[in-house]
Amino acid sequence: MTTVPAPLSASAPLDNSTVPSPSANKKRIFWFYATIILIHALALLAFIPGYTLVWWGLPLVLVGNFIFGSLGINLGYHRMLTHAAAKFPQPLERLWVLLGVCSMEGSPLWWVCTHRMHHQHSDEDGDPHSPQERFFWGHMEWIYTADPRRQKLDTYAKYVPDLMGDKFLRWLHKGEKWLWVWAGHVVLLTALGFGAGFLVFDTNSAALLFGVQWFLWAVVVRTVYVWHITWLVNSAAHRWGYRNYNTNDASRNNWFVALLTNGEGWHNNHHAAPRACSQGHRWWEIDLTFTFVRLLQRLGLAWDVVEVKVPKHIATSSAAAGAMTLPSHTPEP
Ligand SMILES: [Zn+2]
Ligand SMILES: [Zn+2]
Repeated sequence: MTTVPAPLSASAPLDNSTVPSPSANKKRIFWFYATIILIHALALLAFIPGYTLVWWGLPLVLVGNFIFGSLGINLGYHRMLTHAAAKFPQPLERLWVLLGVCSMEGSPLWWVCTHRMHHQHSDEDGDPHSPQERFFWGHMEWIYTADPRRQKLDTYAKYVPDLMGDKFLRWLHKGEKWLWVWAGHVVLLTALGFGAGFLVFDTNSAALLFGVQWFLWAVVVRTVYVWHITWLVNSAAHRWGYRNYNTNDASRNNWFVALLTNGEGWHNNHHAAPRACSQGHRWWEIDLTFTFVRLLQRLGLAWDVVEVKVPKHIATSSAAAGAMTLPSHTPEP
């Protein structure tokens, strides 16, 4: 997991006949589609007033988002695995990956492969989830639409060669074993909720109700929340917001998405300098995921953190306007 990925070859041929698009004939992946609908339907059960709708649901979701979304997806799947933006002690690297798995966004290899395809073909043919033709396609429709490219070993060999040698990542991917890890975390978290309920409450009915509320907010609503804010990076942050850099795509810095995702919404900055660990390039572009990496770095628990040299007039500007091309010293993906 410590190998820096080989640069992607822009000249490598892409079989565009298999690229799904919003307007092409689409083949649904039934179990993806059914799971997404089922989990959304379950999440609605958390909003029954006087029964499952509880004030502590929101802070629980926000804490859950930091643990599973920010540390698992932003830091683990995205910045560490996809872009090799920082290194950590191996137990921590494994932990970030497992937290990402618990967000139910696919196996790490599937996720990284998809995201590297996105960087190579952003908003062009070959981008797995460009929202230019239709927002909903870029947001979530692409997930349950078959993309034959990601069923071929060749595609993984091309996009994730640096991770294919990692036995742990291969084990999670093969036979969809990551789903068992995800199911294990659901059982553990739910048991924690029911256990706490029986410790704190005097009656069985109150304890059971607390367990159900905990399950719905800590597992189901949190999962749906992390899904949608991750998907907003692909959809909203490729349509709405301002641009600091003239990148060859439609990426935008979207403050609302950045706020929700603890930093991933500064997406135009990210496309301009994909390997940089920090995605906030101005003093007010707050990136809590990166703040956490800096903290680990101070504690000696993170190193080889890829820095970006932000042009001074951008770094110090308080206005969200103007766009420029990043100089060539910026790390390439
Ligand atoms: Zn993007
Ligand atoms: Zn990226």
